[in-house]
Amino acid sequence: MGSTYRFACDACGYAVEVSGGIDYGMICATATIICKDCRALHTVMISKRPWRVMDGWRPKAVHCPKSRKHAAAYWEHPGPCPRCGKELRRSDEPVVMWD
Ligand SMILES: [Zn+2]
Ligand SMILES: [Zn+2]
Repeated sequence: MGSTYRFACDACGYAVEVSGGIDYGMICATATIICKDCRALHTVMISKRPWRVMDGWRPKAVHCPKSRKHAAAYWEHPGPCPRCGKELRRSDEPVVMWD
């Protein structure tokens, strides 16, 4: 089961709800990505075969959901704020659980 956390930046006030890395559900695997063009974190589906991802498989490239031309990369907790580069703070408890 996947889980989503709230991440917040104390320096600039940016806040977002993402898993904070690779996450698995029953039907898909997702990744948290950072987009330099949106200056935001996004959750993207990377596979409908989560067991492959559990075995270590990753797509080589990830794409921003807004545009494939955006500069997107994997993001994992602890990681930088997409706005100002300071480390994001993660909530202690997940805010959403999904199957
Ligand atoms: Zn910030
Ligand atoms: Zn983008």
